[in-house]
Amino acid sequence: MNNENKISWKLENSYLLLPDALYTRINPSKVDAPKLAMFNYVLADEIGLNFKNTTSAELAEIFSGNQLPEGAQPIALAYAGHQFGYFTVLGDGRAILLGEQITPSNNRYDIQLKGCGQTPYSRNGDGKATLSSMLREYLISEAIHHLGIPTSRSLAVVRSNEKIRREQFMESAILTRIAGSHLRIGTFEFVSRYHDKSTLKKLSDYAIQRHYPELLQTDNPPLALFKTVMHQQIALVVNWMRVGFIHGVMNTDNTSVSGETIDYGPCAFMNAYDPITVFSSIDHYGRYSFGNQPAIIQWNLSCLAGALIPIIHDDEKKAIELLNEILHDFPYLYKTAWLKMMCSKLGLFTSQNDDIVLVEDLLNWMKFNKADFTNTFLHLQSLPVPDEEIYQNDAYKTWLQRWQLRIASERQDAEMHKQLMSAHNPVYIPRNHMVETALKAASENDNYELFMRLVEVISKPYAYKAEYSAYQQPPDPEADLHYQTFCGT
Ligand code: AMP
Ligand code: MG
Repeated sequence: MNNENKISWKLENSYLLLPDALYTRINPSKVDAPKLAMFNYVLADEIGLNFKNTTSAELAEIFSGNQLPEGAQPIALAYAGHQFGYFTVLGDGRAILLGEQITPSNNRYDIQLKGCGQTPYSRNGDGKATLSSMLREYLISEAIHHLGIPTSRSLAVVRSNEKIRREQFMESAILTRIAGSHLRIGTFEFVSRYHDKSTLKKLSDYAIQRHYPELLQTDNPPLALFKTVMHQQIALVVNWMRVGFIHGVMNTDNTSVSGETIDYGPCAFMNAYDPITVFSSIDHYGRYSFGNQPAIIQWNLSCLAGALIPIIHDDEKKAIELLNEILHDFPYLYKTAWLKMMCSKLGLFTSQNDDIVLVEDLLNWMKFNKADFTNTFLHLQSLPVPDEEIYQNDAYKTWLQRWQLRIASERQDAEMHKQLMSAHNPVYIPRNHMVETALKAASENDNYELFMRLVEVISKPYAYKAEYSAYQQPPDPEADLHYQTFCGT
């Protein structure tokens, strides 16, 4: 084989250098007659893997876990987490990390199979995943990536022959997930609660080395890590709020140290603007509703702070004081970043204190009129939107005048305001009804036409195309009110 045809696995597993309380070595379960459902050739290329001369059957063998890539040393990771506020010991119950691929540009990415069988952390679960939920993760994670938001990514979905038991028997599949790492706030919580200070310090050093090596030079690296993770998570949640994304299950085990969106379960995009929007079937009290996401990330960060106490300072009181001092800045930092983002959505290059009134008045108008979050900003950009009528109402027109005056107060020209807006306002998001129709056709009828089309549409979410007008259409509001998403499917 010449170099051009080589697959080029370059797998390491730095996690194995950590104390063994943090993982268990285990191989993926073998799968009968695996079939490739989706493969992301662009992503493969980005991480230095060339599969141009690999057949679908061979890809299915590799990405089902049947045939381990060269250099793989599979492990399941140990972690805990606060789920809906309650501490639980968890771990990779249905995921196995094959190793870390070192890319040609020297980046390190976890290669993880999800839905590949039981591990010591499976508790009562079967270690499997449904085809529909893995296709869903593929689609939504790719959408988030193309929206320019840090996220784990999806390389492959491989169907297996086995039907698994959920509400009914369903097709199963394995997803290959690529992530900066799978270090979670819950990883720290697990070590802090059950292991010694030296293990906690090793985990912290590892996280810093892997994601923020510049922090090793600071006086108190674990404290600097805390501050940096807080900044990364603020940036991440602000981005979710920008595009109307509801993660749906922001447990601390689903909050990454790298600042990437991870764990796509009951997530969905909001259509009509309402901060209390919740789609997850188990989120009865709206803990993870759209508008509650900033408060929850702050709460999750306080769990990280708690877990780090032993390695911040020998004097516990002093450690708490140092961590609190950082956490204390959260509300101000979040609000400032959020306002700047909302101003950008409105085409404003600066954000002044008064702008909060302008922004909130628009949001309140949207809420009262059940206006579509995505399309309202497109209307401001003078792009065609499906429901024009709503934008003829007087309250909106009055607001529009205030906005135009504010725009006129900046020195940039109209074209520049438009460019700023189009960089922050997606034209296409994966609309719930479109996602469900595409998933149904793919998982129940083996028809991937709609799914592939949706993958194509979400891959350029900021570029308006007249032929994609159907993808701008919000669902019937009644149907969206009853729309439900699910967790461990
Ligand atoms: P998630 O809701 O995906 O964040 O999962 C929460 C926890 O449940 C994690 O420890 C998962 O590994 C575990 N889990 C979810 N589904 C399954 C399953 N089918 N079998 C075993 N463990 C699972
Ligand atoms: Mg999880």
